[in-house]
Amino acid sequence: MDETARHRYRQRLEELRAELDGPAAQESGAHRPEPLDQQAVGRLSRMDALQQQAMARAAQERRARMKARIDAALARLQEGEFGYCTECGEEISPARLDLDPTVPTCIQCARAGG
Ligand SMILES: [Zn+2]
Repeated sequence: MDETARHRYRQRLEELRAELDGPAAQESGAHRPEPLDQQAVGRLSRMDALQQQAMARAAQERRARMKARIDAALARLQEGEFGYCTECGEEISPARLDLDPTVPTCIQCARAGG
C-alpha cells in the first residue's frame, strides 16, 4: 500500500471517529429515560420505555465497539501494519478496505469465523 492510500484511509478513519464523537452521538447518548412510575405509566408504555432503554444501551455499545475498531485500525496505520490481515498476515483486498477501513482480517479469515 502506498503513502497516498494510507493517507486516504487515515482520513476516512478520522472522519468516522469524529462522527462517533459528534453532536448526533451525544444527543442520542444523552437521551436518558425518565424513572418509571408504575401508577402513572401503563404496562404498554412501560414496556416501550424499557425497550427504548435497551435500544439506547445497544446503540451506545455499538458506538464503543466501532470506536475501538477505528482506534485499532489507526494504530495499525501508525505501525505500518494496516491493510494486512491480523490473523494470517495476508494483504486485505482494497475493495474490502474501501467498504470498511476498520476490518482487521482478510475475507478468508472473516469467513473462517474471525
Ligand atoms: Zn487472513
